[in-house]
Amino acid sequence: MIDFDKLAKYSAPVPRYTSYPTAPEFRDDWSIGDLRKHIARSNQSGRDLSIYFHLPFCRSVCYFCGCNAIYTSKEELKERYIGYLTREIAIASEALDLKRRVAQIHFGGGTPTFFSAAQLAEIIAAIRAGFSNIDKNAEFCVEIDPRFFTEEQMKVLAEGGVNRISFGVQDFDLKVQEAVHRIQPFDLNARSVEMARKYGVQSVNIDLLYGLPFQDAASFRRTIAQALQLGADRVALFNYAHMPWLKKTMRKIDETTIPSPAEKLRMLKAAIEIFEDARLEMIGMDHFAKPSDELNIALKEGKLHRNFQGYTTHRECDLFGFGVTSISEGEDFYSQNIRDLKGYENALDNENPPVMRGVSLNMDDRLRKRVIMGLMSVFALDFAEIEKEFNIEFEAYFADALSALLPLEADGLLSVANRRIEASATGRLLIRNIAMHFDAYLRKNQNHRFSKSV
Ligand code: SF4
Repeated sequence: MIDFDKLAKYSAPVPRYTSYPTAPEFRDDWSIGDLRKHIARSNQSGRDLSIYFHLPFCRSVCYFCGCNAIYTSKEELKERYIGYLTREIAIASEALDLKRRVAQIHFGGGTPTFFSAAQLAEIIAAIRAGFSNIDKNAEFCVEIDPRFFTEEQMKVLAEGGVNRISFGVQDFDLKVQEAVHRIQPFDLNARSVEMARKYGVQSVNIDLLYGLPFQDAASFRRTIAQALQLGADRVALFNYAHMPWLKKTMRKIDETTIPSPAEKLRMLKAAIEIFEDARLEMIGMDHFAKPSDELNIALKEGKLHRNFQGYTTHRECDLFGFGVTSISEGEDFYSQNIRDLKGYENALDNENPPVMRGVSLNMDDRLRKRVIMGLMSVFALDFAEIEKEFNIEFEAYFADALSALLPLEADGLLSVANRRIEASATGRLLIRNIAMHFDAYLRKNQNHRFSKSV
């Protein structure tokens, strides 16, 4: 049972832990040499590759958007970008062994389907020409904006091996859509999902946002019912983080129309009830999936993992990102590409990897990353497993964290028993608040601003 009073009590700005250390800890003095040293170690490990391509262009702005997107109508920018992506793969090949097996490919954005069918085919061909060992069963996921999605594109994607699709929806209510500058009628979404199924896509995800202007529990119930009508295998339900000091476009949202924290909780409650009735179970933070979904199965087997792309079953992969702003992640490093298009292009013109910042993980970082990502993924932590992997005595090493968790345990967010931490149903929704006690940087640096946990 979920205790909604506790959710209200613990809602606070907390990192989302898509990485540990979190992005504000990435260092500006990270160099190409640092990256190459880590890539060499990654090559030696022989781990599989997960490759991410950031396709940053959008036709128009959605006011809620926190992504790194470039708004443009210029066709030539896209053509040029494909050339730079191809060059980036070639430059990466000087250090990264492109013959390693690729188990996962992801196109994110921006709006990947703002590229035409022919352009998408060109990008896929460049990837296949660069990476010679893409597994025939590799997971290949593309984020799709139904407003820019044609059958011709779906055909190209399917022929290129795409087998998973994630649709950005957010809300079906017209008043909400108008307020966030994203008109996307239900029928358009239905047609897009139908098209994906027709071309054999195995897994369909739908992204929804709660906390947008004019939403309330009643309207959001209707949105969720419509999302389920589309037959999604997974729904990602995100809390809209209004951070106008970070994203200028969010300043276009009239703050007086944003639902109160209490109403947001009612929306979350409504969503969880409907998902439960529909047998969509909570997997990881913000994600709900059918029992047959591979992420749900991985969660039950304790094998769910979290990286910059979200939840995955591929814990054993090293992630390499291509394109402006993308992030790479190995066992002991993170590296982020340059954020602005001009800088990204300049670096590649000079035959350099377009690196902006990054961080090398010491043993304490790796240990805490393992603990935090473990909690974020499977909502539980086995002390003996961590001790075996890192040769420490868990209770001694994390004495501070364990004592900081006592009040949360008293509030029913978790239990610590038999040398194991297990989050309760309420604790699962507040898993960030539990994980943060293992974050060594958070205590030192209180100045970073994060989104609220609920
Ligand atoms: S939500 Fe998607 S389509 Fe809208 S601005 Fe952001 S990246 Fe572009």
